[in-house]
This record gives sequence, structure tokens and C-alpha cells, in this order.
Amino acid sequence: MSRFASTLPIVSLAASMLLGGAAAQEPAALPSADQRYKVDLMLVVAHPDDEGAATAYLARALDEHKRVAVVISTRGSSGANKAGTEQAAALGDIREIEARNALATLGITNVWFLDGKDTASQNVLQSLANWGHGVALEKLVRLIRLTRPEVILTFLPGTFIGEDHGDHQACGVLATEAFDLAGDPTTFPEQVAGPANRRELFLENLRPWQPKKIYYFPDADREDLFRGKGPSYSVKEISKSTKQPYWRISFDSFRAHQTQAKEFLDSVAQMDEAQIEKMAASDGWTDDMRFVLGKSLVGGSVTGDIFDGITQGAIPFGRPEVSPEPARPELSVELGGPYSFYADFRRAHGLGNLPHPEPPEIALQAPGTLVIPLWVRNRTAKTQEITLSAVLPAGGTAQSGAGKFTVAAKQVASARIEVNLPAPAENSAKKPEPQEVTVRADSNGQSIGEIKLRVELRKRALPQ
Ligand SMILES: [Zn+2]
Repeated sequence: MSRFASTLPIVSLAASMLLGGAAAQEPAALPSADQRYKVDLMLVVAHPDDEGAATAYLARALDEHKRVAVVISTRGSSGANKAGTEQAAALGDIREIEARNALATLGITNVWFLDGKDTASQNVLQSLANWGHGVALEKLVRLIRLTRPEVILTFLPGTFIGEDHGDHQACGVLATEAFDLAGDPTTFPEQVAGPANRRELFLENLRPWQPKKIYYFPDADREDLFRGKGPSYSVKEISKSTKQPYWRISFDSFRAHQTQAKEFLDSVAQMDEAQIEKMAASDGWTDDMRFVLGKSLVGGSVTGDIFDGITQGAIPFGRPEVSPEPARPELSVELGGPYSFYADFRRAHGLGNLPHPEPPEIALQAPGTLVIPLWVRNRTAKTQEITLSAVLPAGGTAQSGAGKFTVAAKQVASARIEVNLPAPAENSAKKPEPQEVTVRADSNGQSIGEIKLRVELRKRALPQ
């Protein structure tokens, strides 16, 4: 048998050559990618239960016969456990299954996890550092090449007054980076190399894949900034397939997250339909689902449907258009940390239209210490002296970082001003207005920069 198998191809090749071409030979189809994992839409979120922010839209997309994959960046192992005693990695194992079960109620089983670790801060850079930015990005690029999404949906990368979880921002950063890299055959080339032999153990035989659009959804309070920046969908519409409103499908999916909300879910189990509807309206479950268009490589209008302009089939790799760095004076001071990162990030990924607050803003737990990270740039050929000072709201005090400093020639130095801000006066009638903090930088009696930050002090906020 094996003797025949090995001689047969040579005989048939010779015969086809003799007969003058391929027509005489039955062509053998070269193997192609596994179609079971091809999707139209990939949702990238941070924690198990974050998918709930988009399940109402996913249910609609499924009604339109879209195929959906979900990527969750951490296993939520530092979250609360209201259903049992398990903590840390054991809790993460439970929460992974809760998220899979939640998505299974919609029929979504194409669910993947990165190996990020929960990072409780508002600083996206801390989340990226704690996740292992490079490893997480490599994995997400692989999942895009494996599932070939037309559209990516993810959290809005930016610093805003709101929940502003660094992990939420980090998954938006990763998804944007992966959108711009997955189509590039020189990025993680081992993933897109054909195997060198049949039992190749290292090369993955994926193909580069360029997604066509990326949309964001914010977890910020600043709805004014997002209006008109993308499509919005009513979740009160009735699903064709289940005859339920989309918010209700989303809520029923959320019931899988017992570790996060057992008491609440137990109380809902005692409610009648009218009470559930009342609860849903007051807790925001029935609010419109609003998106921000990040970018489209296939045209379409900003507020048009998410799938406008999408046709099946690969498009060429679209290298992002990088905008030039802003012109800076010889000596300058600017806000550093996540703020300067996001300014660079928007330029590097062609996200010129991505909404961001001006002046920059943050919410802090009151009374709080606000850390203001700064870049001091000296492009001159000699050491320069600068003076940093802070203008604070009543009751505020500069704790450290104000005063006189020198910056060496051609140096970009980091500096940091820390200020204490008092709790706003108790007045339950209305929400306290954000306060403004200003940093001034002078050199040789002349201003070289003024930085403003809006700060809202709250009862509860994640660490800065
Ligand atoms: Zn989350």
C-alpha cells in the first residue's frame, strides 16, 4: 500500500505533463482556515462581566446573523466574591466560567481570555505593565488572525471623570494596537509563517488579517463629549429571534455573574415583571447603547450602522497614518503620565477624532492627593533653571514638587507635583462641581507653560 502511495504522485505528474497541462489532473484543494472561528464582530473587554456593557448590542448583531467572538483580558481574580469563599486564582477560574455561561445564553461560545492581572487604578500604564503588555498584545494579534473579525468593539482608551478603570482603558489600547498590527506580516511573523514541515511545532500558519472598523464605548460620565461621534442603538427594541427587548436579553445574560452580584440577583429573582422593568430603567439597563467610531478603513458615515460599508473578504493591510509631533518651544512643560501617552497614542494610531476632555480631567477619592506628572523639555544647549508652582482651589496645599529646578541641556526630565485637595462641603442637594488645578512653569521671569486639570472629588474613586 505504501509503495503505491509513494509512487502514484510521480506517475500522475508525469502523465499530466505528457497530456499538456493541469486539465488532465484533478486539482487538490489546499487546506484553508477553520471556518468555525471566523467572526464578523470581536468584542474586547477587560473583566468577566464587562461583556454586559455590550451584550444588548451583541444580541442585535446575532439577530442580523453576525458571528461574534469575545476576548476578556483578565479573569477578574481580584474582584469580590459574593457567592462563595474562593479568592484570587480560584475566583478567577470561577469568573471565567461565569463569563462563558453569560455569553452562552446568547449562543456565543467563541470566547477567549488573555492572561492580564486585575490592576486597581485609573492609570492605563500600570495596567499594561501588570498585564505584560507585549505578551497580551501578541496573544490578541493571534486571536484577530484566528477569528478574522470585520469590526472590533472595545472600551474607549482615555482618561475621563467616570469609572475610568485602567484595565478598561488598557483593553482599548491593546485592541487599537492589535487592529493596526494584525494585518502586518512583519508583526509576530512566526504567527503567519507556513509550517516548515508537517509536524511543525512552532510556526502557526495563520494569515495576516486587517479588521475594517474599530468602535469604542466609554465608561466615562462625559456623555456630551461622545454625542454624534458614532452610532447609537435603542436597547428597548424587540429581538426578532427571542421576542424580548435587547436590554432584557442582556440582563438575563448578566445573571450568570453570581460572584459579583448574588444579593442583587437574588432580590431580582423575587420581583415580578413590572418591578424588573422599573429596576432596569433606574439602573441604566434600558439606556441607549452608544458607540464612538475610532476609525474605518472602508468608509461609511460616523453615525451610520456599525456594519455600513463592510463586505466579506480580506482588505489590504492599512498602515496607520501617523500625525507629526506638535511643535514645541525650546523650553517647555507639559502634562505627563497617561495624559501625554494618550496624546502620542492618538497621533500614532490615526485617531485624530477620538474625543478627549480639554482641559484634561480626573475623579479622585476625597480628601485626596492629586499627583500631577510633568515632562520638562529643554532643547537648548545649556542647563536651564525653571520654577514650578501650583494654583489651587480654596483649602488646597502643595505637598511636594513645587520650587526651583534645573534641567540639563537637551534633556527631557520627568517631574511631579503632589497637592492635597480638601473634601468638598457636604451638600447632598447637588453634585460637587469639578475644581480646577493649575500648574505654572517659569524660567528667567517668563512663562514657559501653564497646565490645567479639572478634578472631581468623590466619595469613592479608584486610586489615581
Ligand atoms: Zn470591568
